[in-house]
Amino acid sequence: MIVVMKPGYTPEQLEGVVAAVKAHGLTPHLTYGVETAIVAAVGEFHVPALDPFEILDGVETVKRISQPFKLGSRQAHPENSVFPIDGFNVGGDDIVIIAGPCSVESRSQILETAQAAREAGANALRGGVFKPRTSPYSFQGLGEEGLEYLAEARELTGMPIVVEIMSQVQLELMLKYVDVFQVGARNMQNFNLLRMLGETRKTVLLKRGLSATIEELLMSAEYILAGGNKQVILCERGIRTFETATRNTTDINAIPVLKQLTHLPVILDPSHATGHVDYVPPIARAGIAAGADGLIVEVHPDPTRAVSDGKQSLKPEAFAAMVKQVKAIAETMGRRIAPVHAPLEAGR
Ligand code: PEP
Ligand code: MN
Repeated sequence: MIVVMKPGYTPEQLEGVVAAVKAHGLTPHLTYGVETAIVAAVGEFHVPALDPFEILDGVETVKRISQPFKLGSRQAHPENSVFPIDGFNVGGDDIVIIAGPCSVESRSQILETAQAAREAGANALRGGVFKPRTSPYSFQGLGEEGLEYLAEARELTGMPIVVEIMSQVQLELMLKYVDVFQVGARNMQNFNLLRMLGETRKTVLLKRGLSATIEELLMSAEYILAGGNKQVILCERGIRTFETATRNTTDINAIPVLKQLTHLPVILDPSHATGHVDYVPPIARAGIAAGADGLIVEVHPDPTRAVSDGKQSLKPEAFAAMVKQVKAIAETMGRRIAPVHAPLEAGR
């Protein structure tokens, strides 16, 4: 942290800053200019907020020299974090594809989607059983029944399952079934939930909040990492802007920015980012071209009958075509789509 004194500061004010720096367990290093002075505060101890220094008498500005997200930062960990999720690695050269319906609706729906997604080259299956709906009167999810169907789909296809957790009370139940916990955009700053997931050792897919900055996303990831859970995947899923032509605006910039700031894997959700089936494949391609480590895509066998997000759900054939295009882009980037196990035979 660097504290710049105002021109015309007094020696007492400078002493006050030096004392405050020491009180935080940091060592002050002073540099004198013609009219001003700079106090560089160095040390192991991390100052969580700059405000106490900003309001000291005689202080002009305070700047960080290290990132406030310590554990997620590339400064602390220059190499990419690569970790296994049942059957494949995330964060390395391979690109992972997570596909499935917005909501688990029935046994046949999820089994059919899982098989089609697997055949098209998906690595993991998504499906919500506790749904964060804007209206309390909309379908809220099948709960445990949905988890049973997802477990059956995993058995059938060998794909790990990615499921959104909305509250701490769902943890005990979900731990028995889920391979990856998804934290939705609306819960990105549910700090109690994040802390609790930090205590588990299951991978967490953390989605960016609707109006969260990149730094806020990284600070949320920090809650999970601080608990000792190192398996965090970040997900850009579009942000709210003034634009109404699409459901959200894909912040494609966030992908290279995040890849520069953090060692954690970064994936893109082109379904929620665009909200329309026609825009999902082009934005999926753009995400991989921008350096994303994977995609999470909504796929439904009959989107016209989906209980949630049908408008943005690809039919299996469209999904398969998209995977082929993404594969070509991945290869251009010197990467590949994570290989899938041969699908298990039905009934095994
Ligand atoms: C979802 O994945 O279905 C979902 C609700 O996503 P988000 O939290 O990004 O809106
Ligand atoms: Mn959805």
